[in-house]
Amino acid sequence: FLNQQIADLNGKVNVSFEFFPPNTPDMQQTLWSSIKKLEPLSPEFVSVTYGAAASTRSRTHDVITKIIRETELTAVPHLTCIGSSEAEIEHIAEDYWSKGVRHIVALRGDLGDDANPGDFEYATDLIAKLKQLHDFEISVAAYPEVHPEAESATADLQNLKRKIDAGASRAISQFFFSAEKFLRFRDDCTTEGLAIDLTPGILPVTNFPQLQKFAKFTQVDIPSWMYKVYEGLQDDPDTSRLIASHIAIEQVKLLVKEGVSDFHFYTLNRADLTYAICHSLGKRALPSVA
Ligand code: FAD
Repeated sequence: FLNQQIADLNGKVNVSFEFFPPNTPDMQQTLWSSIKKLEPLSPEFVSVTYGAAASTRSRTHDVITKIIRETELTAVPHLTCIGSSEAEIEHIAEDYWSKGVRHIVALRGDLGDDANPGDFEYATDLIAKLKQLHDFEISVAAYPEVHPEAESATADLQNLKRKIDAGASRAISQFFFSAEKFLRFRDDCTTEGLAIDLTPGILPVTNFPQLQKFAKFTQVDIPSWMYKVYEGLQDDPDTSRLIASHIAIEQVKLLVKEGVSDFHFYTLNRADLTYAICHSLGKRALPSVA
């Protein structure tokens, strides 16, 4: 029944893809071949993350500019505010607006050892600033398993409400491996009357040891079955990829069954797994126009 339900979706699913700015020529090539492979799937948008270091920041801008120039895709930059002055944010936002960018993923960013916290404390302050400058579409981050610094789940939900009140219209979730946790969070948003499109962030896991570190930092639960599934595969990337694809496809199927129709993929700049998952969701490449 579920497979039939998914087969019937036939193009009714919306997807978006997240990339990060590459820092070597090889990674640059991987990124661009991935973008070219995924472009025909007609994503609603593709986003590019924004790093803490100044060099990464200019690379985000470079990737966004190249996407605008060389593809038909809607390019959406991430922008973090921690450590930035108001003038810097204004300059970046005005530059993006002049290049035709109309949608930004607005974030606080992670607190580093940087002594200078900048002019903005929270993502809410950044959203207010961006909205004051132009009528950007704003997406924000949401945390089904609660942000590590939040006082409580309720306080974190109240923060999401403040971000919506400041002008955000879409929340992209932190990655997760328990669909139930995401769905419970979606219910909590509804109960609290949050008027926002909540898009699950899907992370296909090819490097399990790396995931363990990242999950610790973000306080995302890795279910015990995943430890068992990836056991002994440290040096077997091919099998890991097959398993990653299977897990992610099962995850999106469960979400589709619960009425989810928008998905955001953390591609890690690689196309194959995301392409396979999208294909299983009924996404098909449009024939290229010669
Ligand atoms: P906020 O919404 O500002 O919240 C931060 C914390 O402060 C939360 O715990 C919140 O509950 C709490 N808080 C907020 N307001 C108040 C208040 N008034 N009083 C008390 N507590 C408050 N990081 C990057 O560096 N670059 C990226 O490109 C990037 N992209 C991301 C994309 C997605 C989809 C996600 C989920 C995360 C991304 N991150 C990125 C990580 C993000 O920057 C971190 O998770 C960061 O720690 C929090 O950012 P935020 O925008 O959620 O912060």
